[in-house]
Amino acid sequence: METKPCSRCLRPASLSFYLLLSTVGVRPRVQQSSKSVLFCHRCLESLIDSLADAQPEIHSQLAGSFSRMRGCSEPHGCEGDK
Ligand SMILES: [Zn+2]
Repeated sequence: METKPCSRCLRPASLSFYLLLSTVGVRPRVQQSSKSVLFCHRCLESLIDSLADAQPEIHSQLAGSFSRMRGCSEPHGCEGDK
């Protein structure tokens, strides 16, 4: 399988990150997603940490998702989580 580089450090990427924006209270709902940005674990963790003070709610959501995904994107997979 082709290895793609992390967008920040050029080590092999293990996760892709993208944003999904949705309208609230408007029908029909309109959504726009960004293009994905690739990260290695270390750089994504660093990005999430950097949001802790400035954007605590986004930090909390990303940290939770990252924690749940973490095992699944590593070489041994997430079979132990099932
Ligand atoms: Zn990286």
